[in-house]
Amino acid sequence: NISQSQPIIRQLNETAINQIAAGEVVERPASAIKELVENAIDAGASRIDVEYADGGKRLIQVTDNGCGIAAEDLALAMSRHATSKIDGSDLLNIQSFGFRGEALPSLGAVGKLTLTSRTATGSGAELQVMGGKLSPVRPAAMQPGTRATLRDLFYATPARLKFLRSDRAEAQAIADVVKRLAMAEPAIAFSLRDTGTDRMVFQVQAEQGDMFSALRGRLGQIMGRDFVDNAIPVDAEREGVSLTGFAGLPTYSRGAAVAQYLFVNGRPVRDKLLLGALRGAYADFLSRDRHPAVALFVECDPTLVDVNVHPAKSEVRFREPAMVRGLIVSGLRHALAEAGHRASTTVSS
Ligand code: ADP
Ligand code: MG
Repeated sequence: NISQSQPIIRQLNETAINQIAAGEVVERPASAIKELVENAIDAGASRIDVEYADGGKRLIQVTDNGCGIAAEDLALAMSRHATSKIDGSDLLNIQSFGFRGEALPSLGAVGKLTLTSRTATGSGAELQVMGGKLSPVRPAAMQPGTRATLRDLFYATPARLKFLRSDRAEAQAIADVVKRLAMAEPAIAFSLRDTGTDRMVFQVQAEQGDMFSALRGRLGQIMGRDFVDNAIPVDAEREGVSLTGFAGLPTYSRGAAVAQYLFVNGRPVRDKLLLGALRGAYADFLSRDRHPAVALFVECDPTLVDVNVHPAKSEVRFREPAMVRGLIVSGLRHALAEAGHRASTTVSS
């Protein structure tokens, strides 16, 4: 009888804590891949290769040529709240994707994780984690960089495995995540391969040139040539916040909001404020049932935006939301009006 017995308060063990954290960080294979690719970007990689099998349920592997992890740091990287990216003194000034030090321990709690790495000057080493238990660090052959291999995601938590969707739907979510990250990083070469079926899902080379031409090249590869041929460059700034990218012409609109890619300081976001501003900007140019195609990048000082809202980090909070909204609405309207003006003068002359 619960009401009569004295409840016992216990400190949870590390494995249980990691599994609970994993519930927030790792929802499905695509979220595991997002964490690993973000780590690769943070590591300064110029090439990132992603593989998966069975919609990522059986295998996920992310290989980069970034800075690597020293053999003596591998175990630390796998432990909770261990990060090289912040020192904890300034949570308002975050320049990297990661900062919680949660992804690797979480992945190690919900799957069989192998981390193989080599720094530019060190030699290769490997560490495995299974059920939260670390193996000894062993030497391993490796090019400079890091490879994270995650096998049998959620094998220890069948209830969560049951919530995953079909391999096909999970593969779709993986492609979406990798494409969004690739759009924000035109200078990095990416590939995505389904090793289960031995199919290259997509592959993009590093884009050269100035910011706009590199972005145009990358967006053309990922969103399609049609989009960049029917989009205008946007370049606006207000009080230290900038808006750049490409905005689809009203004539190129869609019946559904399927091609709206928004980024804040390089992070793909699905943010209500930004989507609302987008709708407002196009209101004069589109009927309510039409949706513009856009790839827009808001950049600002990290102290002006809080990315600490949710572990999956797709929402952000601006210090001055009204100003950001104003920048987007006026920046886009201005670009669209100019494009419309150019179009009408070309027709009439
Ligand atoms: P966070 O990214 O929040 O720091 P993670 O658990 O994702 O936390 O990673 C822990 C640490 O492991 C990172 O801070 C980094 O030092 C190291 N690390 C993880 N992945 C890589 C990688 N691909 N290349 C180099 N170092 C990495
Ligand atoms: Mg990370």
